[in-house]
Amino acid sequence: MHVADIKKYFPIFNQQVNGHPLTYLDSAASSQKPIQVIEAIKRYYERDNANVHRGVHTLSSRATDAYEQARVKTARFIHARSEKEIVFTRGTTTAINLVASSFAKAICREGDEIVMTPMEHHSNLIPWQQVAAATGATLSYIPLQSDGTIDMQDVKNTLSERTKIVAISHISNVLGVVNPVKEIIHQAHRKGAIVLVDGAQSIPHMAVDVQDLDCDFYTFSGHKMCGPTGIGVLYGKRELLQTMQPIEFGGEMIDHVDLYSATWRESPWRFEGGTPMIAGAIGLGAAIDFLNEVGMEHIEAHDADLLHYAVQQLSSIKDVVIYGPLANRKSLITFNVGSIHPHDMATILDSSGVAVRAGHHCCQPLMRWLDVSATVRASFYVYNTREDVDRLINAILLAKKLFMEDGGDSKDRVL
Ligand code: PMP
Repeated sequence: MHVADIKKYFPIFNQQVNGHPLTYLDSAASSQKPIQVIEAIKRYYERDNANVHRGVHTLSSRATDAYEQARVKTARFIHARSEKEIVFTRGTTTAINLVASSFAKAICREGDEIVMTPMEHHSNLIPWQQVAAATGATLSYIPLQSDGTIDMQDVKNTLSERTKIVAISHISNVLGVVNPVKEIIHQAHRKGAIVLVDGAQSIPHMAVDVQDLDCDFYTFSGHKMCGPTGIGVLYGKRELLQTMQPIEFGGEMIDHVDLYSATWRESPWRFEGGTPMIAGAIGLGAAIDFLNEVGMEHIEAHDADLLHYAVQQLSSIKDVVIYGPLANRKSLITFNVGSIHPHDMATILDSSGVAVRAGHHCCQPLMRWLDVSATVRASFYVYNTREDVDRLINAILLAKKLFMEDGGDSKDRVL
């Protein structure tokens, strides 16, 4: 499978949007799905659909095998030691909340510290605010350099003997910056802290080895990596998961129940109460097969080429401000153009068939740090091409023409 002709596997591109070919540049919010994933979900519902774990009949054991096989594929994909380190959740948000509610609330005491950065997505921020409110722990932030990068000296200065948890994104969904998580984990462990990495934006774009990183928890969402919505992953070191209590109780997660008490299954199943997202897990497994077949190294190289081209093209437009560092970043560009409101920009782009995101991107504290209320974000994935970047650029020039008095200064580039 070649990255160059990958678009043909994505049926969504067989359409025009507002009279134009679909130029989908919103993969950081949710990626498109290849036919292999759509077919795997369809096949499950057409042939194997049944509840898992409980039945002895043929369909139930097929469904159980497929569900558990997806766990094995996920473990291999991130180089976990065992599939027992993979908890299926609804997404990154649910995975982080599980660690916050079960693990962090149990270990944090008054005066302990939870360390984050100002670039965290609300999903990796609010759960820790809740832990702090419930336990008396305090929140500390590693300051950002002016380009949005992290300096290791600041990390060392922020960590202390009281740091219990460090929660940090691998790649920022706004700045695109790749954070030095391996070094941060090393420093945090020297202080005895536990580290959770929010991998929502990294997993789709780079090979991740949780053993090499030595992270304690790693979280991600299926829908950003060519898989379906409603399925996500909490990777946790086995010895940590085993100490954690479930936060949802009911069927599937129990060992023994009597009228007044109950005991739980071992992890990861103790965290998967109720009928799980069976089709979602199977779809995630198919997405992992797809990414493996393309090759994460090819996806990385393709993303890097597109990003380089997009940064070059965008920065050649007058009045464009790009946020975040120009090096050491991946897969997305967040920007504003002169005084054009990001929502106006996104609306004009949409009328040209170009789908981007505008707003605060679930990062209100980071917006304040950038001193803007909102931005436009174009995010790329394996199915995008340089032609998509050209369409973005032309649509931006069109918006400039419409909204800015001197927008015509680049009109010769508008198709
Ligand atoms: N963290 C980051 C960095 C993200 O980009 C996102 C999704 N925008 C999330 C967490 C939350 O992911 P989900 O909505 O799939 O739970």
